[in-house]
Amino acid sequence: MSSIVNKQKLLNQVLDKGLVGLLDTTLPETEAVDIDSLPVLEQIIYAFCREDASPLQADRAFQQLQERFFDWNEVRVSAIRELAEAFEGLHQPYERSERLVAFLQELFETTFSYDMELLQKKGMKIAAKQLERQQAITDFIVAWVTQRSLGGHAVPVDNSTVRCLKRLGLVDQELDKLPDIRASLEHLVPKAKNAEFTDTVSRVALEFCHDKAPACTACPLAADCPSMRIPPLPRARKAK
Ligand code: SF4
Repeated sequence: MSSIVNKQKLLNQVLDKGLVGLLDTTLPETEAVDIDSLPVLEQIIYAFCREDASPLQADRAFQQLQERFFDWNEVRVSAIRELAEAFEGLHQPYERSERLVAFLQELFETTFSYDMELLQKKGMKIAAKQLERQQAITDFIVAWVTQRSLGGHAVPVDNSTVRCLKRLGLVDQELDKLPDIRASLEHLVPKAKNAEFTDTVSRVALEFCHDKAPACTACPLAADCPSMRIPPLPRARKAK
């Protein structure tokens, strides 16, 4: 069977299983961030929280930012240490805070406002290019905003997602640049399924497919995963 057919079969398994079997790691619907209704600026800031983080972690961090700071201008002028507290529990909270401040600073210096709604009217490609030009914006953030706010076909990938997708065989081992990995996934995943694919794989990556000691025996994708590992049985003690 060709590699592309194998990948398509595996992709169908991932999408069929959906979120079944994943741990209960999202907030109740009434408390969760309503991602689909976020304006463009908030969607970008949510993406800062969501990269290499689960939906639960991202929702909490985003809500902390909104509750602890009066507005995005206060976030821009606050100490990195204070911002990092809102990102507590996430990977690289200080680096995230520095990038968020750099993004808000650049936005403020170029537009003297925090309104990004015009971006949606520029058309998807021009809007994505404009975002890419900002140093603090990663490939993940551009793809996230393209997927959720600009109506484009994009599959955001972060480091934890890539680790899991390579183990599953949905991404070739030799691909190492995030834009190349994203482009290969955008050929594979249908546009109508890209948000579902993003959420499912990122949750499997963070809940089971850990860097060290992946929890394969509990993973909902274990039956279809060529990298599934069974931990060795404890050695039986010799009778004296
Ligand atoms: S079975 Fe193991 S290696 Fe494969 S996706 Fe699940 S946790 Fe990762």
